[in-house]
Amino acid sequence: MSAPTTVVWFRRDLRVADHPALRAAVDAGPTVCLFVIDTTLLRRRHHHAPPRLRFLRAGLEALDGELRARGSRLVVREGAPSRVVPAVAEEAGATRVVVTREVSPFGRRRDDRVRRALERDRVEMVEFGGDLVVEPEDLTGTSGAGYLVFTPFSRVWRDAPLPEHVPAPREIPGPELPSEGLDRLPSGDPPLEAGPAAARRRIVEFIRDGDADGYPDHRDVPAEDRTSHLSAYLRFGMCTGAQVGRALGLPGRLTAGREAFWRQICWREFYHHHLARHPEVARVSLKPTLRGIEWDDDAADLAAWAEGSTGFPIVDAGMRQLASTGWIHNRARMIVASFLVKDLLVDWRRGETVFMQGLVDGDPANNNGGWQWTAGTGTDAAPYFRVLNPLRQAARFDPDGEYVRRFVPELRDVPTSRIHEPWRMTAEEQRGAGCRIGSDYPAPRVDHKERRELMLERYRRSREAAG
Ligand code: FAD
Repeated sequence: MSAPTTVVWFRRDLRVADHPALRAAVDAGPTVCLFVIDTTLLRRRHHHAPPRLRFLRAGLEALDGELRARGSRLVVREGAPSRVVPAVAEEAGATRVVVTREVSPFGRRRDDRVRRALERDRVEMVEFGGDLVVEPEDLTGTSGAGYLVFTPFSRVWRDAPLPEHVPAPREIPGPELPSEGLDRLPSGDPPLEAGPAAARRRIVEFIRDGDADGYPDHRDVPAEDRTSHLSAYLRFGMCTGAQVGRALGLPGRLTAGREAFWRQICWREFYHHHLARHPEVARVSLKPTLRGIEWDDDAADLAAWAEGSTGFPIVDAGMRQLASTGWIHNRARMIVASFLVKDLLVDWRRGETVFMQGLVDGDPANNNGGWQWTAGTGTDAAPYFRVLNPLRQAARFDPDGEYVRRFVPELRDVPTSRIHEPWRMTAEEQRGAGCRIGSDYPAPRVDHKERRELMLERYRRSREAAG
């Protein structure tokens, strides 16, 4: 009797190597590779994200190429997964569907629904790891409830063994099923080249060019742009943390620079574990005492922030980098997020949505973690009263204004001494720079010191009301 067919349902794991679910399917017998364009997911506001969807589409084309080189193809279907996955399993005569485990609450609920639907047809759904270096159930902490603080998490995470390399299958035999194609996803050039081969090149270049070794010296300078740009590849599983670790030289000893970079992968894992254990943070602040903050939520403030016209050059540069490239440097993410929440008093969840819609790497765990950390409502020892001063941040991390000039061209000829506070230019300086404040570039929208006091008061009130 021939072996029963397995369906590999790809989601955020668009690769063929280091893919335990695919490997298990192929080792067991005939395999069908499926991707479902989830129409419910596409309707959710966090997924109105053209740059990310273009990257996804290109990534699916690349995955299809990898599968075809192995005698298979990607079967693409559209609709609700709880209907589509069982239908494909039936068409394929499959007894098993395998997936890579996801941590987002949406993904968990969807997978529960699909599992129940498959059970009715006596098809088993099996989850594999592969996205994370360490699975949440393997890092429980002494309380058994995981970790809320990064440093102790990072210590045990760093000591955990790296998953063994899982080679890509040489051939993927299986029945041929029709595919509906990718037309539902936006076409056009993605913000960066997609697919596992592009991810691999990016890792190799980052290490070869010395950026991994020099990471601590350059990581905070947005104008230098010398971080890895691996986030979108990790987001869609075009590469994995374990692959990055091996390329860096793990399990051996790392240089200090590489170790600092590896720590960033640990932040990713920390936020993924956190979301898996605390799905409620997708909707509310982790800290119950900060769930009652009175936000201004002024629509004009939010719009000015989102389009990069707050009058604070470093903030505007960050938001314009997002609009023009689909990505923002991490230091700029921290500055713009802090400004929205603590200077404009806009609910962090609104900023979270703007980021999800604009970022090629928009990721439920990392984005939520980053926003709640900045707002002081989430994990770790980021006290709410620590407010980033946009002017000091700008002076420190963009001292010559190179980043600002790149993304805010109307400030290009502003003298360096005024680049982060152009409103201080005299009328003559404004004429010389070809930039009149109030018409060519906005006056600052708020007074940072005043807003800081107001924000502290609002946070204090929320804490008091919570008792
Ligand atoms: P590198 O500095 O080269 O880091 C390597 C990898 O480590 C990244 O690709 C990422 O996977 C991980 N990483 C680095 N910093 C962090 C961090 N602070 N938290 C979690 N993982 C990290 N990252 C996303 O991938 N998606 C998001 O939607 C996202 N939203 C964010 C929102 C806010 C408000 C903040 C402050 C940070 C956010 N980050 C997010 C984290 C970080 O800014 C990006 O991962 C990083 O800038 C991506 O660029 P890179 O790949 O060159 O990073």
